[in-house]
Amino acid sequence: MRFEHETLAQRVCFTPGDAAATVRAEVERLGGTRVMVIASPAEADLAGKVTTDVPVVLRHDEVVMHVPVASAERARAAAATHEVDLLVSVGGGSTTGLAKAVALTTGIPIVAVPTTYAGSEATSVWGLTEGARKTTGVDPRVLPRSIVYDATLTLSLPVAMSVASGLNALAHCVDSLWAPRTDPVDQALAGEGIRALAAGLSAVVAGPAGLEGREQVLYGAYLSAVAFSSAGSGLHHKICHVLGGAYDLPHAQTHAVVLPYVLAFNAPAAPRAERRIADALGDTSAVGGLQRLRRAVDAPKALRDHGFDKADIDDAARAILEVVPANNPRPVTPDRLRRLLRAAWQGADPLTLDGEES
Ligand code: NAD
Repeated sequence: MRFEHETLAQRVCFTPGDAAATVRAEVERLGGTRVMVIASPAEADLAGKVTTDVPVVLRHDEVVMHVPVASAERARAAAATHEVDLLVSVGGGSTTGLAKAVALTTGIPIVAVPTTYAGSEATSVWGLTEGARKTTGVDPRVLPRSIVYDATLTLSLPVAMSVASGLNALAHCVDSLWAPRTDPVDQALAGEGIRALAAGLSAVVAGPAGLEGREQVLYGAYLSAVAFSSAGSGLHHKICHVLGGAYDLPHAQTHAVVLPYVLAFNAPAAPRAERRIADALGDTSAVGGLQRLRRAVDAPKALRDHGFDKADIDDAARAILEVVPANNPRPVTPDRLRRLLRAAWQGADPLTLDGEES
């Protein structure tokens, strides 16, 4: 066994019902005296509750999905004006993303309090958009110093969004099994992540007010993000990155829809990944297990339901082909990719992908 695995340094606190006390402790530990709280207006109440005992000098609520450069600039300017020395982000991936954009140019440390299962808090990946172009990069300055996970903060996340967001996390796990820098540690994390996410999502759908399922999904989301951060973006993330950036599709739903098609495409050429996913899902086949879970939780089904236009398939395929990872288990031809996108647009059975080439 020969591999290199980089472990990212951050504190991870699972603290059900105790976010406020834990945030205060983390802010003190990091020496924060002038705190900027970043939370969208929708999460303002949650953010208020978890930052009651923190020296807040600014509450910033201009949060936009995919972090437009102009909104990042305004947040950076506000941080400078108020001489902020610590950021507390309370929200989903969009909110964490804005905090990362501020940290990227200022080096101000972040305490992240996630309220979805996006997982951005556990990666050193930042993303910014300008026009229709999404740029991402990796920088250690954007990795939150501390994460405060409190499953009670996700109780208000509607079931449909919980499912989409949890499947976004599951996609991190699946893609980590064949992404460019995948290693045995990532693969172990991904397997346990899939198990926790599948169990947790089923429990959330069965009883949205229950805490145990939400905790399992948060735990799985954390593992998924650690695996993804180390393994890098595989085919699935490259596809979703192009679709999200160029066509402004909703992040979590796009991941949730595309995942079974990429899995059905790669699984025959990646037998070890296939086995690990099937085992984690308690099924005899990875695609079968994923589809069973997707039916049970009423997962998002088709890209056409989320704003993707059939007429854009050819252009999207061209853009994706330029960024397909060289190590993908199966060669990606223009025809196969168009077929995958057509099937995902329509919500067709992923197992029909391998018919006659058109
Ligand atoms: P989001 O942050 O935009 O949140 C989606 C919606 O859920 C919003 O309307 C928000 O107000 C609402 N919401 C959040 N928490 C809630 C709660 N507890 N209760 C009720 N409503 C709540 O979406 P997301 O899927 O969490 O994040 C997507 C963004 O994160 C994308 O821009 C994506 O690129 C980025 N992302 C980055 C990384 C990374 O490593 N850099 C990883 C994953 C996602």
